[in-house]
Amino acid sequence: MVKAVVGANWGDEGKGKITDMLAQKADIVVRFQGGANAGHTIVNNYGKFALHTLPSGVFYGHTTSIIGNGVALNIPILMNEIKSITEKNVPMPKILVSDRCQMVMPYHILFDQYEEERLGGKSFGSTKSGIAPFYSDKFAKIGFQVSELFDEALLQDKVERICETKNVILEHLYHKPVIKPEELLATLKEYKEMIEPYVCDVSSYLDKALKEGKTILLEGQLGTLKDPDHGIYPMVTSSSTLAAYGAIGAGLPPYEIKQIVTVCKAYSSAVGAGAFVSEIFGDEADELRRRGGDGGEFGATTGRPRRMGWFDCVASKYGCRLQGTTDVAFTVLDVLGYLDEIPVCVGYEVDGEVTTEFPVTCKLEKAKPVLQKMPGWRCDIRGIRRYEDLPENCRRYVEFIEDQIGYPITMVSNGPGREDIIYRKSPLQK
Ligand code: GDP
Repeated sequence: MVKAVVGANWGDEGKGKITDMLAQKADIVVRFQGGANAGHTIVNNYGKFALHTLPSGVFYGHTTSIIGNGVALNIPILMNEIKSITEKNVPMPKILVSDRCQMVMPYHILFDQYEEERLGGKSFGSTKSGIAPFYSDKFAKIGFQVSELFDEALLQDKVERICETKNVILEHLYHKPVIKPEELLATLKEYKEMIEPYVCDVSSYLDKALKEGKTILLEGQLGTLKDPDHGIYPMVTSSSTLAAYGAIGAGLPPYEIKQIVTVCKAYSSAVGAGAFVSEIFGDEADELRRRGGDGGEFGATTGRPRRMGWFDCVASKYGCRLQGTTDVAFTVLDVLGYLDEIPVCVGYEVDGEVTTEFPVTCKLEKAKPVLQKMPGWRCDIRGIRRYEDLPENCRRYVEFIEDQIGYPITMVSNGPGREDIIYRKSPLQK
């Protein structure tokens, strides 16, 4: 059976922790989209890790970790990540990389930087990891597949052809040094040596695994609001963040995805530019940022301070709907224990009208939050394992939000560790 762990919002909802936890009972964990531009923070017995490319199953001896064809594969970053975990005494994980996966080329990273420079104040707030130029090339059909590393003649011809067009842009648009085909070929030869031990026909592997009754976990990056179709376009990422895309980015039949765990954080945070209706500022934001997550809300990859806000029922209801949520994992609830009252965004006011439906981007820019205050619980809830042992106001907060978003909250996370989880039977469960 296949399960997916995905985000309802802007990312950083705590998917890494939930995947790591669910991976205890999974045979295979697959990354199906995105690249090394975002990361997961995982805290376990080996220490604290920021993973960007490796699936969150790498800490278990029993799971196979797969990089699916939908991922933007940065080979040197993958190699460094493997090294960084084995250095901390994590046993060498079993890793497979799809032969259909495409590679982030060194020039993708440069183009990302040059374009942000060129746009100046109008930039997208890219992490400059080359992800947008990578996916542009993939769909312009000038990307490089891992399988092509093993065909020297093809590679030589293609490298020469692609350098020609890239160099025109480098020279005339960006006024930067051009790419030398022989240097690029030498780099690709190194990539081939690095990746060779991991290359696999992943869709066949997964097909066989399904027939053997194995459990496969699909691990999403970012969240619904960063999806290129359903998110806050153009302030989105370049590959689909939806569970449905897991079927494509891993190479699985869509009907095999039986459980979709959508992760929602008990408050909001976002990185990069774009509308963020329930955003807060000043001291209020600083305090939540400092107390948030596990050691503060700062980007796992970039270290950038995250933008902070109250829980947004409008965005989360929409985020859960587009994911096809069967279960909501409600995370980082413990962090809110310091507040007397907790504002929740229950509607958007757009042009004088209140709506609970998430609007398209041009309307979203005009939306103002309608806030409702919930009473706080003013205590530390870490260590609690049973839902009924949570303070009453804390349960009211969870149940209020469940009611607003309309999807069952079946897991409540009250700490960064694997064991910090409360399972709950929701009245909305089918
Ligand atoms: P992801 O990309 O969705 O996995 O999210 P991040 O890893 O960027 O952010 C989640 C952060 O919150 C990490 O530092 C986690 O260790 C931490 N975290 C996850 N769940 C909880 C929780 O329930 N409570 C607290 N305090 N921290 C959590």
